[in-house]
Amino acid sequence: MELCEYRGKELLREHGIPVPDGRVVASPEEAQAVAEELGGEVVLKAQVPAGGRGKAGGVRFASSPEEAAEVAEELLGMSLRGYEVERLLVERKLSIRRELYACVTVDREAGKPIVMLSAEGGVEVEEVPEEAIARRHVEPLEGFQPYMGRELGVEAGLRGRELREVSEVLHRMYACFRARDAVLVEVNPLAVAEEGIFAADAKLTIDDDAWFRQGMERDEEGQRYVELEGSIGCIVNGAGLAMATMDTLKRLGGEPANFLDIGGGAGAEAMRRAVTKVVGNPRVKVLLVNILGGITRCDEIAQGIVEAVEGVEVPVVVRLMGTNEEEGRRILRSAGIEAESQMLAAAEAAVRLSKSI
Ligand code: GDP
Ligand code: MN
Repeated sequence: MELCEYRGKELLREHGIPVPDGRVVASPEEAQAVAEELGGEVVLKAQVPAGGRGKAGGVRFASSPEEAAEVAEELLGMSLRGYEVERLLVERKLSIRRELYACVTVDREAGKPIVMLSAEGGVEVEEVPEEAIARRHVEPLEGFQPYMGRELGVEAGLRGRELREVSEVLHRMYACFRARDAVLVEVNPLAVAEEGIFAADAKLTIDDDAWFRQGMERDEEGQRYVELEGSIGCIVNGAGLAMATMDTLKRLGGEPANFLDIGGGAGAEAMRRAVTKVVGNPRVKVLLVNILGGITRCDEIAQGIVEAVEGVEVPVVVRLMGTNEEEGRRILRSAGIEAESQMLAAAEAAVRLSKSI
């Protein structure tokens, strides 16, 4: 489960990592009040559990409380990376001199945590060549040793006070990663600002299987979303079906753009949210909905699909099988959607459409 920035920052702060002053707001009036309280320039950041907000227009600046209210008015309610913006983080704007990239994650091949640091962070981090990112594996039983932080810092070209502070931040990020059962703790940018070193952004992903013992609330109940590189948007119910759908599309020469698992027993409302999210990805040229009704009732799902795809511009392919299938089919047919019952046939149609558009 990916956390929104402000929740990630709360956890970083608990572990002693410097985070800019700020607060979460849900209205322009609140944004204005917080900007007033902070004084000076502020940054307003859309709180959705997704990256790339800067490029998508979800990170804005304001130099007065009035301007903060205006910017908040524009940001709240906008659709960003498939999520509706309901909250903003209003923070004191840092005078950033340099943007580093810092990350702790799991290297599945090595079977160990890995800590990474690069002097070239920021919104273009995907463009940074692999060799410009310093890396160290951590033996889980030994933990992250202080010398590793120093080595990473030196390799990233840091010296003196910056080196000391950044290696301390890495050490604390690793502590947070372990304590919170995270699979990702990413700080990009780790800002070298006039005010000091700060986590200017935070992307934390908590292991879903550890969620129960972390006692945290979920942002999007039960919906798991994974972004990929292709052009076929996929909505499925169940992790096994998600894998089978990806494999089938790949075998037929298709490329999934993403998939969203709406989970078992999901109803019409869950389907509506899922469609908004999946087609919110601009790469999606065709939407494939692959539902196997067990606990999930096909008629409810069908109702959700009909409501959700109204106004959606990409073609929709549906595979529906299981409980109340006939009723589900009837509902879809009355809205002009012909459902397949076999996954292969639906996948073939989706791949064909994705190549012809
Ligand atoms: P992301 O695009 O979703 O990763 O959002 P970020 O929180 O990383 O913000 C994107 C970019 O906005 C950062 O790389 C910074 O360049 C800029 N930014 C964010 N906060 C501040 C700030 O307090 N001061 C300055 N000068 N720039 C900021
Ligand atoms: Mn970022």
